[in-house]
Amino acid sequence: MIVIMRNGATPEQIAQVVERIQEAGFRGEVMTGAQQAIVGVLGAPIPSELGERLELLPGVERTQRVSKPYKLASRDYRPFDTVIHVGDVAIGADEFIVMAGPCSVESLDQVLRTAHAVKAAGARLLRGGAYKPRTSPYSFQGLGVQGLEYLARAREETGLPIITEVLDTADVATVAAYADILQIGTRNMQNFALLRAVGRANKPVMLKRGMSATIEEWLMAAEYILNAGNPQVILCERGIRTFETAVRNTLDLSAIPVVKKLSHLPVVADPSHGTGKWYLVRPMALAAAAVGADGLLIEVHPDPDSALSDGPQSLNLDNFAALMTQLRPVTSAVGRHLPDAAVAVAPGR
Ligand code: PEP
Ligand code: MN
Repeated sequence: MIVIMRNGATPEQIAQVVERIQEAGFRGEVMTGAQQAIVGVLGAPIPSELGERLELLPGVERTQRVSKPYKLASRDYRPFDTVIHVGDVAIGADEFIVMAGPCSVESLDQVLRTAHAVKAAGARLLRGGAYKPRTSPYSFQGLGVQGLEYLARAREETGLPIITEVLDTADVATVAAYADILQIGTRNMQNFALLRAVGRANKPVMLKRGMSATIEEWLMAAEYILNAGNPQVILCERGIRTFETAVRNTLDLSAIPVVKKLSHLPVVADPSHGTGKWYLVRPMALAAAAVGADGLLIEVHPDPDSALSDGPQSLNLDNFAALMTQLRPVTSAVGRHLPDAAVAVAPGR
């Protein structure tokens, strides 16, 4: 349930509402928009008499029940867009945020080269997997803590915050000690123990859509993180399994405006995993920006042909810079902006 305060309700009136909610055994969360404040009531089940009693308080316009199965993730609960701050980067605000870097951290040299290049092209975060979820146990599994150390070194040199995947509840504390954003991969979208664990972490979480998950299941997974006490959730559409074989996954672009309507959480698109082919990344990245994504996650490698994972879908450094150049007019057409690039490079590979 939410309590919608009148325009101009005083801080004392808002505090009184929170107090009454607490007296009834629930928790009140104050959310402030440009015009109006809303107090969310946390806890279940909420008796309808509570709503009736709160409506009698001064400054209260009305109460409203949230009927969606996901509550905290829903726009019915929080009508204002959530903006997630990582250093000087704001995800979900006016700036279109590009996170870029290799699928896997392979060496210090590879990460540093990529980090400098993506930064120069206008990326705002560095991505790179140190713990890799691989289909085969014989494939490269990631460098683990060594990989996290290399990412931290790249952050030190470039100032780019880092986003990296955590695969296991046992590693959450270690990964959170290095990462600026914790990534939950598609295969773990419904790993509820892991969702609860990152929900207790004091770091933003990027939750990828499960490859066979409906939008509702995806938002319910976000609800686990929010309900565990972590309000900093970013959603990432990374493609779903369909009957189509021409692409690795079907990037569900319609999910982006659907989720923006249903939820207040920022949504980014991952056209790398969403297509599996480097030459499809640019058109789908532009399309994702056009349909209202808050940003992109892009795999970039200095030499994709020698990558230890996801080479076929990785952009080389020149193609990444070219993508950033092409993104500018698209983002500005939909009212977003990108930081200026330090370099402009023509497409190579
Ligand atoms: C990744 O980002 O490298 C990754 C493994 O992504 P996903 O979970 O979407 O497959
Ligand atoms: Mn990958």
